[in-house]
Amino acid sequence: MFARHKRAVQRPIPEEQTSPNGSIVDNQYLEMDNLCHILKEYGRNAFDIDISPSAETRETCEKWVMHLQYGAPQPGAPDGGLLGANMKDWSGLRGFFTKHRQAESRYVVKSFKSMKNVIWTFIEGLKIALSADQEADKRALAQLDRLESTAKTGNINEIRYEVKEVVASLNAIISERRTRQNEQRTQLYSQIRELGDQLLEAREESARDPLTKLYNRVIFDKELTRTIDMYRIFRQPSCLLMIDLDHFKTVNDLYGHAVGDKVLTGVANTLIMSFPRKTDTISRFGGEEFAIILPDTNLDIGLRMGERMLNSIRNMEIVQGEDVIHVTASVGISECGEDETPEKWLDRSDRALYQAKSNGRNRMAIGYHFLKSDMRKAG
Ligand code: GH3
Ligand code: MG
Ligand code: MG
Repeated sequence: MFARHKRAVQRPIPEEQTSPNGSIVDNQYLEMDNLCHILKEYGRNAFDIDISPSAETRETCEKWVMHLQYGAPQPGAPDGGLLGANMKDWSGLRGFFTKHRQAESRYVVKSFKSMKNVIWTFIEGLKIALSADQEADKRALAQLDRLESTAKTGNINEIRYEVKEVVASLNAIISERRTRQNEQRTQLYSQIRELGDQLLEAREESARDPLTKLYNRVIFDKELTRTIDMYRIFRQPSCLLMIDLDHFKTVNDLYGHAVGDKVLTGVANTLIMSFPRKTDTISRFGGEEFAIILPDTNLDIGLRMGERMLNSIRNMEIVQGEDVIHVTASVGISECGEDETPEKWLDRSDRALYQAKSNGRNRMAIGYHFLKSDMRKAG
C-alpha cells in the first residue's frame, strides 16, 4: 500500500521534561504516540456501518497513523499527498473521525430502535391475539350453551337451526383468527427484516471449507434448521439446491488432483457470483457437491436462479496448458414445505439431484413435497 514510503525509523521519544514544581509535562511526541494508539484501536474495533465496512475503516485508520507518524499521504489524497513535508492534515483527520463517529451513533440508535420495535410489535400482537381469542371463545361458549339448552327441548327444527348457527359462528371465529395471525406474522417479519442482515446472517466467518472458502457442513446444517424455523413462523418460501459436478472423476483422471482442485475453486467462485445475496448460504457439502439455501425465494424464482447458475458453470473455462476444461453440474431443487425437517428437505433435494443425474446430467430436477416429482431440462 505504501511501498514507495520507506518505513521510517520511529523517532525516539525525548525524555520527559519536568516543570519547575516537579510535575510531568507531556511533550508532543507522547501526544502523537497516544493519538496514533487511539486511532489504531478505533480501527481495530470498528464495526460494519452503512458508510463503511469494518475492514475499510480499519485500513483508513492505519493510513491516518502512517500519515501522522511517517508523513505518508493522508487517506484519499492523490499520490504524493496534498501537503508539503512534515505537514499534517489535521482538519481531514477531524472530518474523518467526526463523520465516522456520527454514522456509528446513527447506526446503533437505529438498530436499538428496530429491536425495540420488534419486541413491542410482538407484545402488542400477543396482547391483541389473547384478548381477541378470549372474546371469540366467549362467543363460541355462549353459542354452545344455547345449543345445549335447545337440545334439552328436543325440538328438532330449533336444534337444526342452532347447529347451523354454531357451525357458522365457529367458522367465522377460525377465519378471523387466521387473518389476524397472518397480519401479525407479516408485520413481525417486516420488522425483523428491518433489523438488517445481521439477524438472519449470524454465521461465523471461521467455519469455512479450506479449499473453496465456502461455508462448511456445520454452518450449512445450522442454517438449514434456522431456515425451517423461520418458515414455520413466517411462512416465507425458501429453496434448497443440491449441486453435484458431472463426471468430475474424469477431470481428476485426465489432469490430476491439483487441477481438479482448481476446478472446484472456480465452481465455488461461480456459485458466489450467481447468488450474491448475503443471506444466501453457499456451502461445500463434501467432495464435488455443493448445497445452497435461498431464503425468501419461491420455487419459480429458485428455478430461474438455478438455471442461471447452471449456465454460468457451463460457460466456465479453466485453462490448463493447451486445453480448456469445461464442466457441467446436475442440480436437485426443492422448496421448504409443511412439517419440514432438515432430513426430509435434504432428502427431497437429494432425490431430485439423483433424478437429474439419471435423466442425462447437466440439468435441474424438482423434488416436490408429497413425493410428486418432475423433471426440467435445463436451458
Ligand atoms: P457423477 O456425474 O455421477 O457425479 O460422476 P462423478 O465422477 O462426478 O462422481 P464420482 O462420485 O464417481 O466421483 C467424484 C470424484 O470427485 C472422485 C473424487 O476423487 C473427486 N473429488 C472429491 N473431492 C475432491 C477434492 O477435494 N479435490 C479433487 N481434485 N477431487 C475431489
Ligand atoms: Mg458426488
Ligand atoms: Mg459428481
